[in-house]
Amino acid sequence: MTSQASQAEAPLLSVQDLKIQIQMDNGLMRAVDGVDFEIKKGKTLGLVGESGCGKSLTSRAIISINPKECEATGNILYHSDSENVDLLKLNPRGKQIRSIRGRKIAMIFQEPMTAFSPMYTIGNQIMESILIHRTKDKKEAKRIALEMLSKVGISDEEKRFNQYPHEFSGGMRQRAMISMALSCNPELLIADEPTTALDVTIQAQVMELMKGLQKEFGMAILLVTHDLGIIAEMCDEVAVMYLGKIVEQSTVGEIFKNPKHPYTKGLLRSMPRLGGNRNARLESIEGTVPIPINMPPMCGFYDRCKDRIDGICNTRAVPKTQISDNHMVRCFLYADEGEGK
Ligand code: SF4
Repeated sequence: MTSQASQAEAPLLSVQDLKIQIQMDNGLMRAVDGVDFEIKKGKTLGLVGESGCGKSLTSRAIISINPKECEATGNILYHSDSENVDLLKLNPRGKQIRSIRGRKIAMIFQEPMTAFSPMYTIGNQIMESILIHRTKDKKEAKRIALEMLSKVGISDEEKRFNQYPHEFSGGMRQRAMISMALSCNPELLIADEPTTALDVTIQAQVMELMKGLQKEFGMAILLVTHDLGIIAEMCDEVAVMYLGKIVEQSTVGEIFKNPKHPYTKGLLRSMPRLGGNRNARLESIEGTVPIPINMPPMCGFYDRCKDRIDGICNTRAVPKTQISDNHMVRCFLYADEGEGK
């Protein structure tokens, strides 16, 4: 392997045994329960699952923006050129995480209004982020802000710079949020359902835009979504989350060609296919995700799983099985096939 190739493969972020618990009135909720993954420099990892599976809490733990009721343990190791730090050990309001958040690791959300204040112009807000993290020179900050607006395809950027968020359309606000997130050249962009609120055409444009900017800036992306179509379009690797756990993880090609976990197979069957029969009914996964409060050790997918093995799947915790170098599954159907953990 060349040194360039090995550098491209080095993990920028290693999440190890991440657990997030929330004390509820009726018990302890294990919202995230022992999650492990790595994100390599310049690559895109997709975290996919239904709402409530813990994917957003996981991504927000990286930059310490979860509510204080969420008690997180484990390690989130961030290895950049300039620092090696366990993000989970930092004071969530301290100087060090604030210098990483926005500058080295940026985040975009489903609803851009969470990122922008309605009180200030878009240009001012992008400039402010640049002034905090990148330069103290206001002229230079404005130049970068205008350049970023134009890079994300917002024309007439001088005029747009002076407009307020409500004067932008939804798609344009999303672009503006991306330009703000990327204005400080982050090494990692966390994108939480970045295109869910947009119509299909704008969705495709925003994805193209993110891919183009990733190529240009070389950043890694953690893409959090419920949509496997977006995963197929954008990601190198994918981690499928269910009830606070990663139940399957591999490259995108492998997950789509050779899915193992019954939940992953269900997600794939519920996905519309390009060129497929338009009149064919998409299958949905029956049942709902249980709330992980006071869960006994068992498979969380048991109630919804057509392949369940009574007496096994509902009586013990499911081990991870490494069925090949780059394919992990957490399901008793494969427990004998590989290296269990
Ligand atoms: S462990 Fe059992 S219940 Fe869970 S997904 Fe596998 S077969 Fe289904």
